[in-house]
Amino acid sequence: MDALRRVLGLVADLLAPRACALCHRTLGPGDLDWCPACTREILAAVAVDYCRRCGETASPHLVNEAGCRHCRDRRPPIDGFARVGRYDGPIGEMIRGYKFRREQRLDRTLGVMLADAVRSRPWCATLDALVPVPASLAERWQYRFYPVGLLARNVGRRLGLPALPMLTVRGKKRRQVELPQSDRAENVHGVFQVAGHARVAGARLCLVDDVTTSGATLAECARALKRAGAAEVYAAVLAKAGRDTPPPEHRTNAGTSLTAE
Ligand SMILES: [Zn+2]
Ligand SMILES: [Zn+2]
Repeated sequence: MDALRRVLGLVADLLAPRACALCHRTLGPGDLDWCPACTREILAAVAVDYCRRCGETASPHLVNEAGCRHCRDRRPPIDGFARVGRYDGPIGEMIRGYKFRREQRLDRTLGVMLADAVRSRPWCATLDALVPVPASLAERWQYRFYPVGLLARNVGRRLGLPALPMLTVRGKKRRQVELPQSDRAENVHGVFQVAGHARVAGARLCLVDDVTTSGATLAECARALKRAGAAEVYAAVLAKAGRDTPPPEHRTNAGTSLTAE
């Protein structure tokens, strides 16, 4: 049934006039996925520099090997960070289209963008595998699919890396987005476990997530992998939300055509 819905969705896309993936204006014959104005906006958003340790937006002269002012003293257990952009602006809009409105052409677009971000980091060539941040049953139920798993597989295909579900989640009380920054580390403390079959010892791994705000989830996942013997753990996310402006929650009612993952 899901496959049929997917095929019908693709046919509807083919019959409809092509529209910009961001502002939905009709595209001209030479346009790819976006109109010229949105293309300029996306390129500007992707070009913003960030801290290579924690992903926070920061100009290069405020960052050194040890990180930026947000992470230098906290020493996150992440060995390096890749991100596409900030959550506010066009990247956040695309993520909401992907997760909440299930616009399937964004699967490819976001996969390409995140693969490019990882490829630009010097540690990319050393990676053994990608590891999607796991979703709880409640989260899977809400989205009717597993957006981060799909994203990780998509990025892995482009980088020639396996996306391995090495982590599971158990005992997470609330969704991070519902909590103030100060409660997020406690909410995910100890909730991620390495799956019994995972061969983690000595591996160089890159966690994949869609949005990070406090970094507490990524840090906790990295700790679990390192406790199990991972040599290095990096992180790749589509977007970093500002500490002062957490991502607004956008829910969809049109959940009927969502694909189970
Ligand atoms: Zn547009
Ligand atoms: Zn930093």
